[in-house]
Amino acid sequence: MSKKTNAPVQEFEYKAEMKQLLDLIVHSLYTHPEIFLRELVSNAADALSKARFSSLTDGGLMAAAGEEAIHITLDKEKLLFVIEDSGIGMSEEELIANLGTVAKSGTLGFMQSLREQKKELDGNLIGQFGVGFYSVFMVTDEVTVETRSAEEGSGGLRWKSSGQGTYTIEKIERGERGTKISFTLKEEYKEFAEEYRVEHVIKKYSNFVDFPIYLGEKQVNSVTALWQRPKSELQEGDVHEFYKFISNDFEEPLDYLSVSVEGAVSFKALLFLPKNAPMELLYRQGELENKGPQLYVKKVMIQNECRDLLPEYLRFIAGVVDTEDLSLNVSREVVQSSPVMAKIRQILTTKILGWFEELAVDQPEKFKTFYKAFGPIVKIGLNTDFTNRDKLIELLRFESTKTGEGEFVTLKEYAGRMGGEQKEIYYHSGAGRSQLLANPNLEYFQNREIEVLLLSDPVDVFVIPSIHEYDSKPLKSIEKADIDFSKEKTEGAEPVAENLLAPLLAKFREILGEDISDVVESHRLVSSPVTIVGGKDAMDSQMERMMKMMQQEMPSAKKVLEVNPSHPIIRNLSGMMIANADNPLINSAIRQLYEGALLLEGDLSSTTGFVQRMNELIEAATLSR
Ligand code: ADP
Repeated sequence: MSKKTNAPVQEFEYKAEMKQLLDLIVHSLYTHPEIFLRELVSNAADALSKARFSSLTDGGLMAAAGEEAIHITLDKEKLLFVIEDSGIGMSEEELIANLGTVAKSGTLGFMQSLREQKKELDGNLIGQFGVGFYSVFMVTDEVTVETRSAEEGSGGLRWKSSGQGTYTIEKIERGERGTKISFTLKEEYKEFAEEYRVEHVIKKYSNFVDFPIYLGEKQVNSVTALWQRPKSELQEGDVHEFYKFISNDFEEPLDYLSVSVEGAVSFKALLFLPKNAPMELLYRQGELENKGPQLYVKKVMIQNECRDLLPEYLRFIAGVVDTEDLSLNVSREVVQSSPVMAKIRQILTTKILGWFEELAVDQPEKFKTFYKAFGPIVKIGLNTDFTNRDKLIELLRFESTKTGEGEFVTLKEYAGRMGGEQKEIYYHSGAGRSQLLANPNLEYFQNREIEVLLLSDPVDVFVIPSIHEYDSKPLKSIEKADIDFSKEKTEGAEPVAENLLAPLLAKFREILGEDISDVVESHRLVSSPVTIVGGKDAMDSQMERMMKMMQQEMPSAKKVLEVNPSHPIIRNLSGMMIANADNPLINSAIRQLYEGALLLEGDLSSTTGFVQRMNELIEAATLSR
């Protein structure tokens, strides 16, 4: 207990803007009253680390009476809340400067303008403006701060205020360095006199504070700053618990990476790869609003989900980044534009991409799990991160006509096993493996054992064509393959003779009319009668489908129908033409062939006519028996 000395109690007026600021804070924080606790703990931890630091250089600094720690004492009956630290403490000048004025000029104006813009003035911002202490007036009407600076020649002081325009300072007896803040909770915030509630808040916001926090007799922050430890000292069990704690994931992480960088910027990081993509990722492609690692500055959490630490396409990575190179009181805007952040982001990106590469080599199964969950997001980086494009291209994985379902090939492997004749890397995009494999356009490639990448991830059509070439080999959709199919010898059955084919193709053109831009002889088909291909300058069909799905206004480019002159159906049709060119069955058959090709492409919009015609044709076939 401290006794009053003879010194009088001095009364001070707050600077004019304090009253407004307090109002603003109290009104902004009512949805998160527990923020006051985070702020008080973080101030106490700061005071302890300042003392720790100063004692390195200042021999005259008073030592802590006991352990360097934070003690919280609660009285449920009297609604008392006391938090005490054995930190650096405050002198009279410091009390006036720190608790009597707004630290930075312009803070009030800035906060007001945020509020006018209806931007959320949340706990995060409050802490960053250096006004966190005042959040205590949210839960109490009067605060007492008893403190003694660790500097030589200081004595005990008591600061008291009800946050109403004035505060008082008096001298007291206080033997030990550090600060004790006490107050009576308002009735409506009596929950903060409950141990379980306070413990929960501490675990939530301050679990990794680097000094012990005691609640009564019990230490409540069990975990220490894991990311500060050298990699060799990390226990997998601890690391996994830590991940679950910070990410709210109930599963263990797929893998983790410990980073320690010293140089132009210094920071430590512990990063995690989750096993599963979060739900929001499945629904809102690539838009990870509230994801990203936590940003700590000198062990104090600055931002829970910091968007600026990583490029968007890596924002699913969870973890902690802790740097000494940012000021504790930086605002979010400053964080965003800070060159320190840019440097950290750049280094982290390189480290993370290297981590992925390593996984691919050393732990291919893990890599596969990762790629299935996050591949679609990472690919977006190809269009946004040109610095790392080459690395990202190496990470790409595809199913192909030579892999099993769910098995992958890299571009490097593909290029490595390309036949000597083959000049291009081929891909074929569509909705899924089985549909892709059923497409007649693949026949030529299958028949000659030319590998074709099967792209079924919707993102692929937006990113893969932009690669243009790999290892000096152009990437081409099979629809755009630079192969002169007309030079190919069609094997098997005798094709329809040249002079008979021309009138048949003319008939196709007449019947399909405007639906198609041309009908030509095909050299790429093996077992199908017809196929639809894009014209020379047409957009990739899958791309066109995606654009339509996204409701993009665009006329669909007309396609070319290719006809296989060796196919029995085509030969039969040619025969029917000779017998009677007006046979209505020819008309139905041609329409049916065309719509069947559309169906395989996934582009047949109405099946009514198709089924009707099919029934007519079956009827004709069964009749002739
Ligand atoms: P911030 O901590 O963001 O600077 P606060 O309003 O929370 O803003 O605190 C203002 C200042 O008061 C702190 O910067 C610090 O100098 C001082 N202070 C607050 N709490 C303590 C404490 N427990 N021990 C020593 N100094 C403190």
